[in-house]
Amino acid sequence: MELLDLTLQQAHEGLKKKEFSSTELTKAYLAQIKNEDQKIHAYLAVTENLALEQAEAADKIILSQKEFSVLTGIPNSIKDAILVEGEKCTAGSKILGHYVAPYDATVIKKLKKQNAVILGKTNLDEFAMGASTENSAFGVTKNPHDLARVSGGSSGGAAASVAAKEACYALGSDTGGSIRLPASFCGVVGLNPTYGAVSRFGLIAFASSLDQIGPMAKTVEDVKIVFDAISGKDANDATSTDYKFEDEEVVLKGLKIGIPKEYFEKGIDPEVEKIINNAIKKAEEQGAKMVSVSLPNTKYSTACYYIIAPCEASANLARFDGIKYGLSSQSAEDLLGVYLESRGAGFGPEPKRRILIGTHALSAGYYDAYYKKAQEVRELIRQDFKEAFKKVDVMFSPVSPVPAFNIGEKSNDPLSMYLMDIYTGPVKLAGLPALSLPAGKVGKLPVGLQIIGNYFEENKILAVASLMEKVLQLG
Ligand code: GLN
Repeated sequence: MELLDLTLQQAHEGLKKKEFSSTELTKAYLAQIKNEDQKIHAYLAVTENLALEQAEAADKIILSQKEFSVLTGIPNSIKDAILVEGEKCTAGSKILGHYVAPYDATVIKKLKKQNAVILGKTNLDEFAMGASTENSAFGVTKNPHDLARVSGGSSGGAAASVAAKEACYALGSDTGGSIRLPASFCGVVGLNPTYGAVSRFGLIAFASSLDQIGPMAKTVEDVKIVFDAISGKDANDATSTDYKFEDEEVVLKGLKIGIPKEYFEKGIDPEVEKIINNAIKKAEEQGAKMVSVSLPNTKYSTACYYIIAPCEASANLARFDGIKYGLSSQSAEDLLGVYLESRGAGFGPEPKRRILIGTHALSAGYYDAYYKKAQEVRELIRQDFKEAFKKVDVMFSPVSPVPAFNIGEKSNDPLSMYLMDIYTGPVKLAGLPALSLPAGKVGKLPVGLQIIGNYFEENKILAVASLMEKVLQLG
């Protein structure tokens, strides 16, 4: 088998058997990036020196130790909103175009401790605001399955890097769908963890009550390996938890799978629906029981998300003032001028739109009508899921209503872009974990099945996904 086709687990076995070294594996990926990435543009920066140094260090460990971590010596890509010490971290924005990270995010510390290899930083919508990577200040990431189409977003570079064999696995982040949507569009597995399962320390904040870092990889098994490595309590993130994840034994026979009826009512592409229905049928053939559940407040979810996320974003982005970080106007005559010129030149249209929406919604007189109301609706959405999970083990749904769309198709229509989160956003407002599993294709375009679990039931989701992965491969 070609080095670049190996899964994380297979690459680990190869390293263990000394079939190849980490340096060889890393060089193979670096060569692939050189050959392919001009057309895909998954990467904003390739950290070649770091990668080769880390590979050399990993090879020493592999030679000297019998047992080493599954991640040791295996190359990954990191979304460019996650800090890697000494490397640029732009968040896809001109305002951070020259910003160099002064420390490692906790997830990076954890990967480095296991001697993982970091190939580079991947493209994203500016400050992770978007569903296509078209909002990146540094160009769009194309879908490896069809270069005329988007890779999804905001972690489009992450998903494309795995799909184009330019990384063995990737770290992305998900605020309203940003891991699952690009995973679905690019045909890879992506996990959005329960809020609090993974430390956010060192992730450039977009909407802090929603942001989570999570893994993307070729297989469910690989995603689990990375999730196990990055999850856990962190003293630097007060919202992280020390939940003890136990392995779950799951069989499809008798498993109660909830089908949220509101997710199939309107707006879904019939071809996507067919693929999801096929997955449902396959699970039923294995003895799973489908249970219709209702999430009646789904219809408010997009409105609610697009109040809460911009409110938090407007507060989080206030720190980019031309003084503390990044781009700073040299021509302004006074302090206010520095703020206005730096922010005016540094932020692209989408962050500006969100800052305006968020600041307006939080202002005196509007706070109760917008922010407070949205928080109340968020609670109702949470209750919907709570009720549904009394009856079912997991839920199946589409990830997005359509497969990857054409580049440019929605870029001048923010509302239709916002509607891409219709099935992924509610899960985030509730703080639940969910995974995107490749379930079929419309033409050459992959389509993901979303598997939603109850709080901290990542292992149940992963176990179900692993069974579904096999069932769907059987045809
Ligand atoms: N598309 C959503 C937004 O633009 C979600 C993005 C994300 O999850 N980071 O806010």
